[in-house]
Order: sequence, then structure tokens, then C-alpha cells
Amino acid sequence: VRVYFDDFMLEHYSFGPDHPTKVERAENALRLIRERYGLEPDVQPMRIPDPGELCEMHTSGYVLSVLDGECPEWPGSDVDMATACAKIAGAGIDAAEAIISGEVDKIFSPMGCKHHAHRDRASGFCVFNDAALAAKKFVDAGMKVLYLDWDAHHGDGVEALTRDMPEVMTASIHQSPLFPWTGLEHDAERHVFNYPLAPGSDGTHLRRAVTEALDTATKFGPDVIILAAGADGHTSDPLAQLRFETEDFEAVATELRGFSDEHCEGRIYIGGAGGYDAEGSTPRVYAAVYAALDEKP
Ligand SMILES: [Zn+2]
Repeated sequence: VRVYFDDFMLEHYSFGPDHPTKVERAENALRLIRERYGLEPDVQPMRIPDPGELCEMHTSGYVLSVLDGECPEWPGSDVDMATACAKIAGAGIDAAEAIISGEVDKIFSPMGCKHHAHRDRASGFCVFNDAALAAKKFVDAGMKVLYLDWDAHHGDGVEALTRDMPEVMTASIHQSPLFPWTGLEHDAERHVFNYPLAPGSDGTHLRRAVTEALDTATKFGPDVIILAAGADGHTSDPLAQLRFETEDFEAVATELRGFSDEHCEGRIYIGGAGGYDAEGSTPRVYAAVYAALDEKP
């Protein structure tokens, strides 16, 4: 498994000191992957994409104003943070290209899957939509994409950016009601599937929804998977009220691993999406998911 992460992120990826998003969650996850699971991730630096590459899924006016350092998601002007956000998108684009070329079949971007980012605006701590950019690359290469999202929040940005692409199926499992307050029903004609769960739902609900989504995906026939592996559905996460345990994430990752081996030649781009317990459950969930997906058949 290749991992995209580098020191620039540790130094500059910050929405401000009191913000719930902590870049340290990525470092902690990589440490657990090594120490607890004895796996050695192939960590690669994240490339800064050209503005034109970001415009594949975003308007040029939006891209240029963010790259100038301006974004309502952070206070004041911050060009370094804008660069860090662009690097997340660069990692998504490079991940897709590496998977398409067959160089590698699984890539984990712990700060990736910025699933709330829209075409012309940031939202919910998400600035550039690396998942949608990766999906576009896969589709341009003639591949059908399953986007599976088990973050506690609806993957509204990816859904909006890909709903008119017949080669992309989106399946989002999320708490409802909760930000961004959307994702209440399926739109099967556009391959949009939503699995809203009431606050307090536990791992049995997660497992059932993943099984249901993968049943639907079998009929769709994807060539590659993009996984928004958000850890904020964990019972100890401060931003949502779901009750998933680490073993539940491990179980659905194992199920997804089987699906990807059977239908997609093992091809998965995994983004960390949300997870706000940076010293606790978030890195534990990421490491467990990583290990389940990395397991040799
Ligand atoms: Zn989330």
C-alpha cells in the first residue's frame, strides 16, 4: 500500500489552533500501522498540482482565489494552508494515475477524501475534492468507479460533482440528522445511494449498510473503488453520535477487501475523510482499516 503524506502537511495543514481537524492523526495512524500491525507503508510526498488540474472539478475563479490564500474555512489569508489543501488534491490525482497505470493497486491518503468540497466553494473543512478529481481520472481512463463513504457525514460534494457521470456510483452511509443535512434518499437512476442512520446507530447498522451498498455495487460492476474511510462514526468521536467500534470498521474493511479482490482487481484509493479524535480512536480506526485492506489473500 502506498501512502501520500509529507512534512509540509505536518507544518502547514491547520485551520487554526482550536479547530477539530488535527493533522497529527495521520502521523499517529502511520505509527500504529508500523507498531501494532508490523506493516511498512510506502510513504510518498504529495505533489502540488497545477491550477488547471484542480479546474477539472472546480471553477477557475474558486481555485485561483483559494490559491491566493483566501478561504472562508480558515481565518485571514494563508497561502501555505492553500498549498496543503492543493497537495491533498495532487495526491488524489497521482493516486488515480498510479492505479490506472497498474503501478500499485492500493493507496491511502490519510488527509484525503475531502468529500464536502463543491465545485465553487469549500464546505465542512473540505477545500478541493480529491475524491471527485480521482473519480474523473478513472472515468477518463475508461473505468467505472464505486465511491463508498462511511464517514459520519453525508458525502454531499462527491455526490454533487459525480451525479451526472453514469460511470460513477456513490454510496454514502452517514448519521442523519447531521451536517450537511442531505443524503436522505437514493437516486438509483443516477447511481446515487444513501444510507442515513439515526444518532446512536451501532456497528450492526454500519455492517448492514455496507453489505447492502456492495450488493448494489455488484450489479453496477465497478473497476475501482474510492473509499472515504472517515473514522468519525466511532463511538468516541466528538463530532457525531454514532456508536461504531474499531472492530466494526475492521469488519467492513475486510468485506470491502473481498469485494475489491473479486470485482476490481484489488484497486482502491482510500482517503481518511473525517476523524476528530486524533490521539485516540481516529488513528486506531485508520490503522485497522489499512491492515484489513493490506492483508495478503
Ligand atoms: Zn465526517
